[in-house]
Amino acid sequence: MTECELLSKCGFFNKYQDSKQAACSGFVAMYCKGPKMDSCKRKAYRKENGVAPPDDMMPTGSMVVS
Ligand code: SF4
Repeated sequence: MTECELLSKCGFFNKYQDSKQAACSGFVAMYCKGPKMDSCKRKAYRKENGVAPPDDMMPTGSMVVS
């Protein structure tokens, strides 16, 4: 798989995919469309809690600070 299966419903991806913030675009490249998609903390959160995490939670589990 070359893209995360949650792309279309992921709040982080949808909010930050076009972000100019280097951190966010780096995460999209590494996680959402890259080799680390299976270690995404958002995915783990969804699995553990049965609901989507806040949009501002990054794939690493930290919050975006704007
Ligand atoms: S942030 Fe995580 S759950 Fe969301 S699209 Fe990227 S890899 Fe998938």
